[in-house]
Amino acid sequence: MFGKILIANRGEIALRVLRACKELGIATVAVHSTADADAMHVKLADESVCIGPPAAKDSYLNIPALLAACEITGADAVHPGYGFLAENARFAEILIDHGVQFIGPKPEHIRIMGDKIEAKKTARRLGIPCVPGSDGGITSDEEAMRVASEIGFPVLVKAAAGGGGRGMKVARSAEELSAALSTARSEARAAFGDDAVYLEKYLGTPRHIEIQVLGDGKGNAVHLGERDCSLQRRHQKVWEEAPSPIITPEQRHRIGETVAQAMRDLKYLGAGTIEFLYENGEFYFIEMNTRIQVEHPVTEAITGIDLINEQIRVAAGEELSIRQEDVVLNGHAIECRVNAEHPRTFRPSPGKIGYWHVPGGLGVRVDSAVYQGYAIPPYYDSLVGKLIVHGKTRAECLMRLRRALDEFVVEGIETTLPLFRELARNEEIVRGAYDIHWLEHFLAEGEPGR
Ligand code: ADP
Repeated sequence: MFGKILIANRGEIALRVLRACKELGIATVAVHSTADADAMHVKLADESVCIGPPAAKDSYLNIPALLAACEITGADAVHPGYGFLAENARFAEILIDHGVQFIGPKPEHIRIMGDKIEAKKTARRLGIPCVPGSDGGITSDEEAMRVASEIGFPVLVKAAAGGGGRGMKVARSAEELSAALSTARSEARAAFGDDAVYLEKYLGTPRHIEIQVLGDGKGNAVHLGERDCSLQRRHQKVWEEAPSPIITPEQRHRIGETVAQAMRDLKYLGAGTIEFLYENGEFYFIEMNTRIQVEHPVTEAITGIDLINEQIRVAAGEELSIRQEDVVLNGHAIECRVNAEHPRTFRPSPGKIGYWHVPGGLGVRVDSAVYQGYAIPPYYDSLVGKLIVHGKTRAECLMRLRRALDEFVVEGIETTLPLFRELARNEEIVRGAYDIHWLEHFLAEGEPGR
């Protein structure tokens, strides 16, 4: 097992990893930018190293500074959290070359899944069902036209290097296709420095269903059921739940086993998420994330499995301790991503937190790295905390969520808490009747419905 882990991240996920390390008896090193000198992860770690100025490219993305921090502190492994360098295959390779273990998948798997065209080819080869679309990248308008007429309009142009919903454009007809291609390409070039795009059938009213997997790199892998992340704004998840209100045990077993088998064949190492769109009883692969995800606590709540602990143990070379038959799903969990944003306009609201009171009680978990009097820096994402609620049934979970949201008090900054209070009481949400467009409609009209 590792002696000392450097956590190459900030915010709630840095704290989450730190907690897992403490429980495993592993020493921790926090890294921080000059803007984060008084951040909670720095206060709670055994040691800390300043790695640069506020801009992420000069600090949390600064590979030489992170390597130097490993060397100075004698850390023998790095946990990247999510975001920043978590899916950077080159970073993983550089660490390994310097004798530091990367707590995550093998670099080759990060690389394949980081290119969505390669990821889809690999998924197809492994027997995972995919969204109909082009077999590879699209190189000309003519080729796009040919594929689009085969799969039928509307189609979605997507960036191979995509992430965060950027570089995605819908074309509803042949007339719109060429403009969608050039906009997606230029957006992708600006965001990722890579303008490769591909084409997918645009699904009208799907749900976003993703499967959590864990592998030990030796051919053992399990799935931990699904999360339903259909409540999205601008393709970004807002509310996640497990299990999905609409997936049957048979469907879960079938898709879960398909995915777990694919991970066994790949000899996948660590935690990963296979994302699908689900429509009319069919699952369609869209991408794989080769890291821990923001919404992992809902899976932890219903399985009782500490995903970060498992990530660390398999990265240290241990075999997976869980067999598929040991995975039992218990009750229902919902996570709300509480952001420092206006609840309707979503304008960021950094600043000093005046009063901070988090809910508690049975089945309530708050993962957050902020505290009363803490000033949220404007340089990073706006997540201030995740509220995760667990209940025996979905109805109990929703009841507890309403209670917990009403207890949550944040003063001094705007947060999205009022939006969640509305959602948790919305009749369609309570029924579980929503797809990936529901929230956008709700926000546009002030009321649900299409
Ligand atoms: P990113 O990596 O940018 O997040 P994804 O491929 O994971 O992109 O897709 C993000 C979201 O975009 C999905 O959850 C879904 O809401 C929407 N989306 C992606 N592909 C399609 C599709 N083929 N049809 C309809 N919506 C899609």
